[in-house]
Parts: sequence; structure tokens; C-alpha cells
Amino acid sequence: MGFQFFRQHIGHKIIGLVGLSAFLSLAGMVVFYTKQQEQSILDQRMENAVTLNQSVIQGLDAVMLTGSAEIASFFAERLKQVPGVVDFRILRTDGKEAFLDNKTIQEINNNFGRNAFNPRRTEKSVQVLPTDDPDLQKSLNRAETVIISSHSTDGDPQLTFLTPIPNGEECYSCHGQKNRYRGVVKVTTSLSSMQRDVRATWIRAANILGLSVAAVGFLTFFMLRRVVLRPIRTVTHAMTRAAQGDLSQEVPIPSMDEVGIMADNFNIMLKRLRATYQGLQKEQDKLSTIILSATEGIVVTDREGKVVLVNPAAERILEKTSQQIIEEGFPQLVDDPSYINAYLQSWGADMPETIFYKNKLINMNISTIQDDENRVMGSAALFRDVTDEKRLEEQLRQLSFTDGLTGLLNRRRMEEVLKEELSRASRYNQKVSLVLLDVDHFKKFNDQYGHDQGDRVLIAMARIMKEHFRTNDLCCRYGGEEFCVIMPNTDTPGAFYGADRFRQKVEATNIDGLQVTITAGIAIFPRHGSEPDALLKQADLALYQGKQEGRNRVIIVPE
Ligand code: GH3
Ligand code: MG
Ligand code: MG
Repeated sequence: MGFQFFRQHIGHKIIGLVGLSAFLSLAGMVVFYTKQQEQSILDQRMENAVTLNQSVIQGLDAVMLTGSAEIASFFAERLKQVPGVVDFRILRTDGKEAFLDNKTIQEINNNFGRNAFNPRRTEKSVQVLPTDDPDLQKSLNRAETVIISSHSTDGDPQLTFLTPIPNGEECYSCHGQKNRYRGVVKVTTSLSSMQRDVRATWIRAANILGLSVAAVGFLTFFMLRRVVLRPIRTVTHAMTRAAQGDLSQEVPIPSMDEVGIMADNFNIMLKRLRATYQGLQKEQDKLSTIILSATEGIVVTDREGKVVLVNPAAERILEKTSQQIIEEGFPQLVDDPSYINAYLQSWGADMPETIFYKNKLINMNISTIQDDENRVMGSAALFRDVTDEKRLEEQLRQLSFTDGLTGLLNRRRMEEVLKEELSRASRYNQKVSLVLLDVDHFKKFNDQYGHDQGDRVLIAMARIMKEHFRTNDLCCRYGGEEFCVIMPNTDTPGAFYGADRFRQKVEATNIDGLQVTITAGIAIFPRHGSEPDALLKQADLALYQGKQEGRNRVIIVPE
């Protein structure tokens, strides 16, 4: 949990790092200076001990010179009471404690040859150090204070100082001049008080260290929070909210340092994102509007083939709800999975684009959607109801075929049809009759009753033609008041019969109170011509003959 805490917060990481480095550097300093302090206390203590020894030696000399060796002994005893002094002894050069036996007194009395000093009544011999003790010998040989480090029985650290007592000229009268030193002053001091001082120094140092680290940590944290952490946190929070979709973020710019630049860049970035997002939104709205209001049906699937988009036009054209389309699946779009699958597999090649579905003609366009790297993203069907379109097309086609006034096939169409019929008849070895009709004295209807009346006569003529001729016969307006009938698979008798009966019918019909007659010329394919023009020419000649012979008659091209 602790590591997690550090891992998640950059502030904690920095504080941890700064705290650690502050602690290490301060601890290093504290250890260094405390060690120095410890050394200086120790040095001070040694210097004091050496000085003490020197003073004792001078004091002893002074006392001894008065000839009061007892006072010197007493003096030595009293020195043991000095605080920090654990043991104080004056040793002779053989390591025995002085002033306890009569050895020295006897030597002095011998020197003087009289009892200058009274021997002690009670004698004691205390061998403090062995005569050949190396430290004792060292002190005496080198004429310097030897310091020995040891521990008491309680484990207290101790320092023992052995300082040689010089045998000065003033001592020669009693002690002779044989020895350079009369003995050593041995002072043992306890270091426990020093240790206490050192410990106290360590504790003080540790306290200062703790306070310093806390102060450094607090100051760093305070500064970091103000200058770095708070702005970073503000940006981080804003980023999190932006990542969750809220792009309305704008963070204050705290300074012009890196953090400030980061905040500034973040604002710029979000501004751009907002602009892009709004642009996208607009595009999406446009696209949605187009899709929703499109007259084309649109159905889109995802990569797995699941239907993900159905627009209202699709529901209308297919007469299914979007729910139904989604549930049934893409291949069931027009209830013919084989058609949809074949279309997708062949990319529409050789597939009928217009299909008949639910009494409608539907123009289908189905394709696989791929991304830039040719990966399949889904499928899309785009379709529209072309029933009305096709109907109109058909009407137009019909219109282009027919004559506006009479509704019969026009001349252009007639020529096409004639060509087709002749080639078919030629294939099946059949006959085709071509009847050319002309209204007799038509000019007079126009002249006497007006052009409109002439038109009405033409309209009536067409109506009678449609009623009279067989459905297989093709009635056309050849031009003006001339008409033409193509009779497939019909030879002379049938053609003559049909044309003459028509002539009689016209003659018998009262058109707006007018008596109308026609003259007809008939040519038979292939007898009278194998080409349309030749055939027409022959029929026209027959018609002309009919007019010549008095009109209101049917003439067949002579054999
Ligand atoms: P016939 O054929 O018996 O020799 O005499 P005709 O009076 O019919 O002679 P012609 O064929 O020369 O005259 C045709 C006339 O028909 C000429 C023209 O004014 C008229 N006409 C041609 N097309 C139309 C039309 O669409 N409407 C009307 N009202 N008259 C037309
Ligand atoms: Mg004419
Ligand atoms: Mg005429």
C-alpha cells in the first residue's frame, strides 16, 4: 500500500526523494560534526588529565621538597576524591605504590647516614603494575605520558595516564642521582561522563537533524505544492475530465515556466479539440440529416454483419420496421439471401440492379465497406423505389413512340416497327401486309369547317382504326391525313379484307355530321418489296392508283 501511495502521486515521490537526500546529507554532516565534537571532548579530557598529572607532579615536588612525604601521601589519597578520577596512585619505578612501605625511607636514611625520616609503623606492599609493565617502561623510557584505554569491571570505559616523575637536582639530596625518574603518577579517569556528554551531543544532533529534515521537507512540500503540484493537479484533473468527454476545460496559467507552458498547451490543445469536435458534430448532424431524410433506403452492418443502421426510407421501401430488419439480418433484406450474398460476392457484377419486391421495382446497390487498409468494416445497402420512375420512363417511351393528336404510332416508330416486322417475317418465312390510307378530299374539311374540325376527323379516324384492326396489327399515323397499318403474318386476302372493311366502316360512320371516305393502297412483303422503303413506295403507288380511279377504294399492288 505504501509503495502504491508513492507510485500514484508525483508530489510524494518528490518529497520522498528530497526528504531522503536532505536526510542523507544532513545526517552526513551531523555524523561528521558530532564525531569531531566527540574527538574534541576526548582530546579535551586527555589534555585535562595530562595537565592534572603535571600539576600533581609539581605539587608533589613542592611538598616533597619540604620533606613532608606523609603530606604527599595524604595529598595522593585526597586526589582520588576528585570527580572523574577513579584511581590516583603514585608509583615507584618498580610499579609498587609509594608511601606504603619503608623502602624509600630506608634508602634516604642510608643516604643521609642517620634517621632523617622515621620508618612507618605499619608497612604495606602494593604492586600496582608489574615492574616490567610495557606501559610503565614506555613512560619511563620515553619520558612521556602514556595513555592506556581500558574498561572497569562494570564495563565503564576508562583512560589511565602514566606520567613519569622526574628526579630533579633538588631531589638528589634525598633520592640520589642514580635514576632519571623517581616513579610515575598513575591517574585513571572514567569516560562515562564523557560518554554521557557525547550521547547528549548525539541526541542534540539527532533532534536538530530531525527538525532540519522536517523543515526541509515542509518547505519543499510547501514550495512544490504552490509552484508545481497544484498546477499539475489542476491540469491532471482537467485532463481526466477531458478524457471523460468534457472538453469545456480551461486551466489557469500559473507561471511561464514549464508547468505554465504545459497548462497553456493544454488549453490550446483543448481549444483545437473543441473546434474539431464541433466540426465533427456539425458534419455528423449533416450526415444524420442526410441519412434520415434521404429518399434512398440505407442499411449498414458492422464487421460482424450485425445491422447497425436503418434509415426511415429503408423501413418505408422494404415495408419492415427497423427492429424487424435488425432481427432478420442483412441477407434477409429483400427476403432473398441468395441475391444479397451473390451481390456481395460478385461486387455487383452481372447482378440485376432492379428487382421486383412487394409490388415495387427496387434499385439495389450493395457493397462491402473497407477501410484505407482494405480491411472489411461492414456492408451497406443503398436502395430506392423506382416503380414510379420506371412507370414514367415507360410513359415517356410510349410518348416518344406515339403521335400526339391521334395516339397512334408515329412515323418514326412505324419505320422501326416495319423494319423489325420485315426481318422477323423474313426469319419465319412469313408475309407482311402494308396498308397506306389517305383521307379523301381532306383539304375541304379544313377549308370549310376549320383546322380544328380537320383534327377532329383525324382523331375519329384513329379511333375507328384502333377499334377495327386486330391487336396484332400496328396502326400508325404516317403524316398529315395519311395512315398506315402493318399487318404481320398477313397476305393479300386478309389485308384486302381488313382494309376494305375499314373503308366501309369509315364511309358508314358519321363524323360530326360529315361523310368521310378513305382510299388505301396495299403492298405485300416480300412479293412487292423486301425493303421498307420499296414496300412503302409500292403501297403509295397503289394508293395513288386508287385516287386516280375515283377514291373510296382499296387497291392492291398488281401482281
Ligand atoms: P385527296 O387526298 O383526296 O387527293 O385530297 P386532299 O384534300 O386530301 O389532298 P392532300 O392530300 O393534298 O391534302 C392534305 C391536306 O391535309 C393538306 C393539309 O392542309 C391537311 N392536313 C395535313 N395534316 C393535317 C392535320 O394534322 N390537321 C388538319 N386539320 N389538316 C391537316
Ligand atoms: Mg394526302
Ligand atoms: Mg387526302
